[in-house]
Amino acid sequence: MSEKFDLVVIGGGSGGVATARRAADYGARVALAESGRLGGTCVNVGCVPKKIMWNAADLGAAQHDALDYGFRLAVQGHDWAGLRHRRDSYITHLNGLYAANLAKQHVELLRDRARFVDPHTVSVAGRTLTAPHIVIATGGCPRVPSIPGAELGITSDGFFELGARPARVAVVGSSYIALELAGILAGLGSETSLMLRGETALKTFDDMLGEVTLERLREDGVSVVTHALPVGLARDGSGALEYRSGDRRTLGPFDCVLWAIGRGPALQGLGLGQAGVQLDVQGFIRTDQYQATNVPGIYAVGDVTGRAQLTPVAIAAGRRFADRVFGGQEGRHLDYENIPTVVFGHPPLGTVGLSEKAARERYGAAHVKVYRSSFVPLYHALTKAKPRTHMKLVTAGDEQRIVGLHVVGEGADEMLQGFAVAVRMGATKQDFDDTVAIHPTSAEEFVTMR
Ligand code: FAD
Ligand code: NDP
Repeated sequence: MSEKFDLVVIGGGSGGVATARRAADYGARVALAESGRLGGTCVNVGCVPKKIMWNAADLGAAQHDALDYGFRLAVQGHDWAGLRHRRDSYITHLNGLYAANLAKQHVELLRDRARFVDPHTVSVAGRTLTAPHIVIATGGCPRVPSIPGAELGITSDGFFELGARPARVAVVGSSYIALELAGILAGLGSETSLMLRGETALKTFDDMLGEVTLERLREDGVSVVTHALPVGLARDGSGALEYRSGDRRTLGPFDCVLWAIGRGPALQGLGLGQAGVQLDVQGFIRTDQYQATNVPGIYAVGDVTGRAQLTPVAIAAGRRFADRVFGGQEGRHLDYENIPTVVFGHPPLGTVGLSEKAARERYGAAHVKVYRSSFVPLYHALTKAKPRTHMKLVTAGDEQRIVGLHVVGEGADEMLQGFAVAVRMGATKQDFDDTVAIHPTSAEEFVTMR
């Protein structure tokens, strides 16, 4: 016998939980299936444990700065296992909070893998659920290259299982995960190599961000290896890993090789064929602006749609879906333009809107004016290290509307959110100029650029 719900959500990560809870707020009868740990990627193997590790690496650098500020400290290594234990305990606490919040809102939680039986029916934990609305929020999983020996490497999931710091590590990739994890590993003392298949990093971002990030990684002792497309991984006689690159080099030895080459959709065993849901060319679920798939009544949110794979995007898409379908807010949907994002590198970088190149393509070179600033922040006036912060404002049209805002340097992560509001609201360069600066900060440079 099937049980009837108003909404069935598949996946209890950022997007699924947000969708279920918002729909329940409106009084919908909701069931949510989660086969793994509640909170999904972000809570268990993504943003949260990553930021904790990033904080640790940041403190490592701060200890050296503290000496320059007059502290008498003896830096005596780092207890990776102890940090991991405290980090994982915190995550277990979060898993419990997620379950409690769902229970408080009477969302029925089914802890098993769900699969479609037909477009309106889902089978999970031996039960059969039907609903007029089904949301797929099954997220993604790390990609591993199809090369001999790939299984000898780990992914970001494996990074969070490491019981000890690897002494020599190669991180493969040139985007978010590669730059974040390379920065963390180097900051905590691993001899780190970053393997790029090309010459640059962060290709989809403003050029300034990738260039400065690679320069800073090099200054921090990371070996940035270009043209190192992976073609094979093998163990040498001592058990260490040898990395073979497309240009016939053998690189290493390494104790750990970490693949950070993108994430694909998690669709295995979901029975999408029974439901008739179509995928895009990259294998993600194709959705329209209302998160609707090609099958009436079936929707998808978050990483499984392949659009801006970020936690707040998954949450926003899910909440807007629920506002529209259960909250009577007709037409409500997520605008995927001007999504601010931060890469937690060392230093962090933040970006919202168009890169300089993209702005020139969209508006024409003659209509784009760019403002730049580069400076050593006051914090580093007294430190031996003198890293520079770099900022860029990209403006378009006679009114010089800010269409891109980019920053790489200490504090970028906390700086960006407020500026993203201004960009979204259509702020112009004049609005920035008319805003009184907060002194002494790095952020004030954005309102004093000439
Ligand atoms: P997920 O959070 O992956 O949730 C999907 C859930 O569905 C999982 O719990 C899974 O077990 C479950 N599931 C899958 N199939 C089934 C099934 N058939 N039945 C039942 N359950 C199923 N984003 C940021 O915004 N900031 C960051 O700093 C950041 N850092 C990151 C760091 C790393 C290392 C990684 C990997 C990602 C990071 N992200 C970050 C991205 C962010 O984690 C994802 O965008 C976000 O988690 C996507 O949410 P989601 O709900 O789409 O999927
Ligand atoms: P991305 O999709 O962002 O980038 C994939 C990278 O892998 C590209 O740089 C690409 O290189 C490289 N690559 C692809 N195939 C190969 C290959 N065979 N060999 C070598 N390099 C290869 O992937 P990530 O894994 O970094 O992250 C996945 C997503 O997770 C991100 O896009 C982001 O949305 C999310 N995330 C967000 C974070 C945050 O908000 N701070 C942190 C971590 C993840 P090339 O540049 O040469 O094309």
